[in-house]
Order: sequence, then structure tokens, then C-alpha cells
Amino acid sequence: MNGTLDTIVADIAREMAEATDRGKVADYIAPLAAVSDKRFGIAVVEASGAVHVAGDADVPFSIQSVSKVFGFTLALGMVGDALWKRVGREPSGSAFNSIVQLETEQGIPRNPFINAGAIVVSDILLGRHEPREAIGEILRFVRGLAGDESILIDEKVAHAEEQTGFRNMALAQYMRAFGNIHHAVERPLGVYFHQCALAMSCRQLAMAGRYLMCGGVNPETGRTIISKQRTRRINAVMMTCGHYDGSGEFAYRVGLSGKSGVGGGILAVAPGVASIAVWSPGLNARGNSQLGTLALERLVQRTGWSVFDPA
Ligand code: GLN
Repeated sequence: MNGTLDTIVADIAREMAEATDRGKVADYIAPLAAVSDKRFGIAVVEASGAVHVAGDADVPFSIQSVSKVFGFTLALGMVGDALWKRVGREPSGSAFNSIVQLETEQGIPRNPFINAGAIVVSDILLGRHEPREAIGEILRFVRGLAGDESILIDEKVAHAEEQTGFRNMALAQYMRAFGNIHHAVERPLGVYFHQCALAMSCRQLAMAGRYLMCGGVNPETGRTIISKQRTRRINAVMMTCGHYDGSGEFAYRVGLSGKSGVGGGILAVAPGVASIAVWSPGLNARGNSQLGTLALERLVQRTGWSVFDPA
């Protein structure tokens, strides 16, 4: 490693503060459009428990699609491999909110990390529950993972998503026509929009991702969240599908499992080594954080943490 982690993380935050090409902040809902593109945060939690932060690491932001990791983990725990009857695990090569493949693939989304897949996962989480209960369960789950009861869902964001989520409604209705959504679409969509509206800081997100670095165990409580085998598989799907049609590029540049969101957050995992969260709201053409990706690329160059680097 070149320098101590504290220095590396501080250097990266300084470099990102000076960057001029910052991407474009999501503007499809007002609460996201209002966030400054000057923001940048990074938090690294090592397997030892040591935490390193810099920049806006304690400022909560809308985690959006990063939440798909937590919904997916919960659903796998609930229904196990039966989940794969309703969702695939191949990269889509198309945009996060694309509908095209659903027609030829009979309403089975390519993977749980595109919108269609996450809406099916929300439908699974509903089970026999009311949306309110399923949303409460997700919030409790994430708070438990992060060891932080102060994490909240931003109702303004959830409401704005509901008002403008016509594409997501179309995806849900279309999958319902194929029998792959089992409830009236408002129900899984309500769960999905609230899950996307979780507000978390980089520190909270990196803490919540610890089970993915620790073979499915929450290192704080010693509790098994999900089996080691399933954890390995979640990490695999994050690597191959976590950045939509930019997943190949992310694997090439960063070489870690990662999940992005349109709020500009990315959760990345180096198994056995570190859980990392970065946040910068400006997005690249694929809807992934421009500087978040660059920051992770530099972190991996300086630490050698890519899963493709020799240990
Ligand atoms: N709430 C957003 C949507 O459904 C999440 C998309 C994302 O983060 N890529 O469009």
C-alpha cells in the first residue's frame, strides 16, 4: 500500500474537490436536483473495524439503487433460491430502467439490480405483508446492519418518486401481465420507492455493507445475516450487474463488487478486506457516479484491493 489509509482517503477527497469534470446531477425529481455537485464523501471500513473517512462522509444522501442490495439480501433470506425463478442473474447491457428485454424474456428481469428486477424483489418482500410492514422491515434491517438507529427514509423523496415514476409503473404493469408481479402494482412500487428513498451517509453505508466483506456475518453483533455461499453470490451479481450497462467498465476500472445509485452513491466491497462507500452526485452517461467511480479507481490503485490483484 502506498501510504497509510488515512492519507490515501484524505488525498482522494482533496483530489475530488478539485476535479472539474463532475458529471451531471440527477434531475428527474426535485429533491435530487437540489443537491450540489460539489459534494464528495468517502468512508472505508476495514475488516479490523478501523474506519477512515474524508470529505462529506457524514452527510446523508439518497442511496437510491444502492438499496437494491439490501432488498435483494432480505428476499434471498426469505425465499432462498426460489427467487431465481422470477429474476435472472445476467448483466442486462441496457439502461437501469429499460423495458425492452422484458418482452422477449417473458417478464423475467435480467437481474435484481435493474429497476424491473428490484420491483420483483419488492413484490417478493411483500409476501403477505402490507407495504408499510415491508418498508419497516427493510428500514430495521438496514439500521441493524449499520448499527445505527438514526437512519431514516426521506418521505419527500419517496413521494416525488411516486409522483413521477411512470416508467417504473410501466415495468411493474408489464411484468404483472406476465404473472411475475403478484400484487396490485402500487404495493411493490410503494416498497421499492421507499427503499430507494433511504437517506444514509457514506459512513452508515460502508458500515451497512460490512456483512458483504465478512462472509455474511455482521461483525458488530456476530450474527449471520446470510450464508457465506449466498454472500459470495451477492458479491458476484454486484460485480457483474451492479452498474447496469456500465458494469463491465466498473469491473475494468475498479475490480470490486459495487452497487451504484442515481443519488451518486456507490457501495463497493473487497471481501475480507474492506467495505467502502463513496458519494458524489454528478453522474456519468450510464447513471453512475462520475467522481465516485474515479475515487474508487484511485483507492484500488493505491491499496491493491481489486479482487484481481494478487493478495
Ligand atoms: N429511484 C430510481 C428509479 O427507480 C432509482 C434508479 C437508480 O438509482 N439507478 O428510477
